[in-house]
Amino acid sequence: MYNTTQRISKDMMKQYNQKLILRILMKNGATSKSTLAKQTGLTLPAIADIVDKLENYQLIKNIGASKTDRGRFPTLYDIEEKTLKVIGVGITSKHITIGIYNLKGEKLVHQSEDLPHNTSPEPLINKITLVINHLLQKKGFHRSEFLGIGVGMHGIVDYQKGVAIYPPHLDWENVPIKEQLERAIDLPVLVDNDCNALTLAESWFGDAKEENSFIVVNVDYGIGAGIMIDRKIFHGIDFGAGQIGHTIVDGDGPLCTCGNYGCLEALASEASILEQIQKKMKKGFPTILHDVREVPDDIMISDVYEALIKGDALVLNVVEEAARYVGIAVSTLVNIINPEKIILTGSLISNASKETYSSLVDSFAKHALKTNTKKLEVVKSNLMDHTIALGAASQWINELLLGSLSLKREMGINTLSQNM
Ligand SMILES: [Zn+2]
Repeated sequence: MYNTTQRISKDMMKQYNQKLILRILMKNGATSKSTLAKQTGLTLPAIADIVDKLENYQLIKNIGASKTDRGRFPTLYDIEEKTLKVIGVGITSKHITIGIYNLKGEKLVHQSEDLPHNTSPEPLINKITLVINHLLQKKGFHRSEFLGIGVGMHGIVDYQKGVAIYPPHLDWENVPIKEQLERAIDLPVLVDNDCNALTLAESWFGDAKEENSFIVVNVDYGIGAGIMIDRKIFHGIDFGAGQIGHTIVDGDGPLCTCGNYGCLEALASEASILEQIQKKMKKGFPTILHDVREVPDDIMISDVYEALIKGDALVLNVVEEAARYVGIAVSTLVNIINPEKIILTGSLISNASKETYSSLVDSFAKHALKTNTKKLEVVKSNLMDHTIALGAASQWINELLLGSLSLKREMGINTLSQNM
C-alpha cells in the first residue's frame, strides 16, 4: 500500500514538472535546458530527463543550437506543434465558426457559417458535424491526432456537464451539447460560455500570458465578461459569473431581455445600439444612414460602423453614450475583483472610433476606485480574428497543460508498460 501511494505521488510530480516545462515553452518559445533549470529551480539532470520524456511523447522538439554573444551554442527546445490538434467551435446567435488549431494556437483551417434566425439544437449539431467532417477530410486529418473539440457558446453554460442551460439569443433550454456532439463526431467535447473561452484564449495566446487574475469584457451583439482568478476561470455556483450585461447602469433605463430595466445590454450592446438608431431615424433625426437604406429597420450594424467612421453625428452620439455605459459597468467589475488587467474585445471595441474608445476609458476612469486602478492595465484585445473558436479550442490546451489530462494517455502511451 505504501509503495503504491509513493508511486502515485512520484508519477504526479513527474507529470506536474513535465507540464511546467511545456507551459514555459508555450509562453517563452524556444528555450535551452540550462535556462529551463534556472527558471524552474530543478537540477539539470532532472530537466534532461523531462526533456527526454517530452521529446519521446513528441510534445517538444530539438530545434538545434542557438548563437549567443559569448560564443556558446546551447541546444534549444520548443513545442512540437504538429503532434496534437484541437477543434474549436464558436456559437453566437448569428453564426458558427469552426477552426482547427495546433498546440501553439495557430489556425490550420477554419470555416464560418451563418445560422438561420432561432436555429434549434438539432440542425445546429448537424451543421457543426457536417463542417467538422468536411474540414477533417479537406486537410486529411485523422481523429487520433485530436485532443478533442471545444465549444464556446453564448449564455449560461454548465461547463461540468457540457449543457447549454440558457442561451438567451437562441431560445433554448438545457441542451446537452457535449453529449450530442460526442455522439455525432466520436471525439471528446468540452463546452463553456463564449466569454470564458475568450478569457482562455487571452491567457494562452493573447494579452494575458503573464497575468493570473484578469477580466475579458466582450461588447458585441450581447455583452458579457470572463473572469480569471488565480489562473482559473471563475464560473460561479450556477455558472452565471460574468453576466456584466445585466448589471443595472441606469435605473430609469429601457426594458432588457432579462425583464429588468436599465441593464448594460439594453443600453450598449450592438442590438441595442441598432434599435436606438432605428428609432431615431423613424423620428426623422438627420443622419447619413437615411441615404444608405430606405427603411430604418433594414439598417445593419455594419452600416452603423461605416457611418461611425464617417463621423455621422447621430451615430457618434449613440455609440459614445453606449461606450460611456460600458465604462461604468467595467468600473464596477474592477471595484469588486481588483484585477491586474482588463481586456476589451468584441465587435463594438474593434469598430470603435477614437472618440468612442475615449468615452469608454474616461467614464471608466471617472467611476473606478483609484485604489483599484493603480496597477491596472486596460487594453484592447489583439486577438480579433475568430477568437471564440480559438478560445473554445484553448479549453483542451488548458486541460492538457494545467488540468488533469494525462500527457502519457493523450500521447497514446500505455501507462502500464511505459517506464516514466
Ligand atoms: Zn438584463
